[in-house]
This record gives sequence, C-alpha cells and structure tokens, in this order.
Amino acid sequence: MIILIKKESRQEQIERLIEWLQKHQLNVHVSEGMLQTILGLVGDTSRLDIDLVRSMEIVEDVKRIQEPFKSANRKFHPENTVVAAGGAVIGDGSLTLIAGPCSVESEEQICMIAKSVKASGATMLRGGAFKPRTSPYSFQGLGDDGIRMLLTAKQETGLPIVTEIMDLSQLHLFDDVDVIQVGARNMQNFTLLKELGHQRKPILLKRGLSSTMEELLMSAEYIMAGGNEQVILCERGIRTFENYTRNTLDLSAVPMLKQLSHLPVVVDPSHSTGMSRLVRPMSLAAVGAGVDGLIIEVHNDPANALCDGPQSLTQEAFEEVARAVQLVYDAVKAGKEVRQ
Ligand code: PEP
Ligand code: MN
Repeated sequence: MIILIKKESRQEQIERLIEWLQKHQLNVHVSEGMLQTILGLVGDTSRLDIDLVRSMEIVEDVKRIQEPFKSANRKFHPENTVVAAGGAVIGDGSLTLIAGPCSVESEEQICMIAKSVKASGATMLRGGAFKPRTSPYSFQGLGDDGIRMLLTAKQETGLPIVTEIMDLSQLHLFDDVDVIQVGARNMQNFTLLKELGHQRKPILLKRGLSSTMEELLMSAEYIMAGGNEQVILCERGIRTFENYTRNTLDLSAVPMLKQLSHLPVVVDPSHSTGMSRLVRPMSLAAVGAGVDGLIIEVHNDPANALCDGPQSLTQEAFEEVARAVQLVYDAVKAGKEVRQ
C-alpha cells in the first residue's frame, strides 16, 4: 500500500503519521520526490482501515499495490535509484560499461585487461574469482588469490570491481570489493540474499536461467528487505527451446523492469548469446531498449581463455563496441528529447 501525502503538509504531521503506522507493525518507506512525498508500507496492511487513513488531513490518496514486491516497486519510489560504487555510478541516466574477463587468470592478465577496458571507456572491472561451472572438472576460478589480483587491478587503474560470490563462507573476502555479483544460479539462494541485505554495498543480481521477471524482482526484494537498497538488476538471457544461442536474451525485460522498478537495469550480452559476434548487435539493441549499463566479457586471448572464450571480445573489439554503443546511446537520448 502507498500513501500519497498532500504537498502542503508539514514535516511534523508526516512524522506523526509514520509513528502511527509503525504502531500498526508496518515498516514505512519514505520517498521524498520533487513534487510529492510518498509513504510505502511494507508488512501486513490487511488490518489497516484504508478509509480512516484516506480521511486524514495530510493524506491525498491511498493505493493498494498489487505486485508482491514493494521496496523494488516504482510505485513506492518513482525516481530512479542511482547506485554508486567506488566512484562509478549506475542508473543516473548515463550508460555504464562494466568489462573484463569471465575469470581472473593471473595478476598480469587482469591488470592488462583492466587498463585496456578503462582506456576504452569502461568505468567498472568485472572478473570472476569464484566460478559456478556446470562441470566440476572445469576451471573453478582462483578463489582468494583471484580476489587479491582484482584488488591489485583496482589499485593500478582506480576501476571499481564487480565479482561473484557463490557462498556466504566467502563473504569475508569481499570487504574491498565494490559490487558483489549474485550469479544466475544463485538468484534464488535466499539465505545468501538475506545476508547480502545486511551488507552496505551494491549487489548486481543476475536473472536466473528460468526465472520470471517477477521472481527476479522478488529476489531483489529479499536484499532490500534487509535494508540494502543498492541493487542492480541484470538480464543475462534465459533458457528457452532455442539452441543456436547459449541463452535467449530477453530484451523486453529492459523496458518492463524499468517500468516496474526504480532499480538500474544492465544487460549481459556475453552470457545471453554465448557468441562474441553477437555481442555487438545485442549491446546496441540493449542500449536502444533503454539499459543503464552493459556487462561485457573481454579477454586478452579469447582462443586460450580458461572460461567462456567463445563469447569474449578481444580488447580491440571492445574498444569498437564501446564507441558504437555510445553513439546509439546519444541517439536514444536525442530521441527522448524529441518525444518530450
Ligand atoms: C558471470 O558473469 O561470470 C556468470 C557466471 O554469469 P551468470 O551467472 O549470468 O551465468
Ligand atoms: Mn563467463
């Protein structure tokens, strides 16, 4: 349920209403917009007398929210959430590029790729240290050493780092990591999500292989219910009957998620297609669909990568894609201005 507050209301009147609502065992999420203050109620509102609330002097209107996600809901929070991570921002209306290898393979490799993607315009570095592989016999990542190498790359380039956590036992290694990634396979690991809700750092939440948008938003809700509102949603392709591509990139998720939620949305064209030659066209399409950012796999030697070589761009190809997506971004922005 949301309560729209009349514009002329005084702060102490709003505070009194919040206290009254809290006495009804409800958590109140306050959204102070330029035009209006909105109170979002989280909890069991079934016993609240809507007519009584509606009749209050400072209340303009009361609306029931149909969707099961509350904190992630745009109705609660009409303005876009801007996530800040170590100097980079995502969701502020610009296009954020996150790039780097699937896995960290050596200190030399990650530092070299970090420098090159930074020079091409990336503002965050990705790289897996803990890798969720389908086969237990495949390269599993460098673990703690991989995190240390990422931190060295961060120190050398100033790029904030994004890396995946697979299990809560690894959390102590993430103190200096800027954005914690929850991979597709862990999107519904509710124990992990709950704990990440107690962290005070951004979480990049990837859509599960067979998850609906609502399930993705409910997973974001798990994190937000713990008090961590810094969540970035990531569309990374879903499993369908189509076999030519590794997954099917659901681009409709971009405008849909942005309509339903105030959280920033990024697209991963690498895992969604599984093919480096599809990364460029799908990146352009994602920007056309209105993404806040792209997370792209880039490798110094894709043919010999320890993981996901076929979908990784070379550093040169990334440089060209970064330039092309910026042109599309500028065109989309100009188009928005024409519409207004
Ligand atoms: C990754 O980004 O390295 C990864 C494993 O992605 P996903 O969880 O989307 O498969
Ligand atoms: Mn990968």
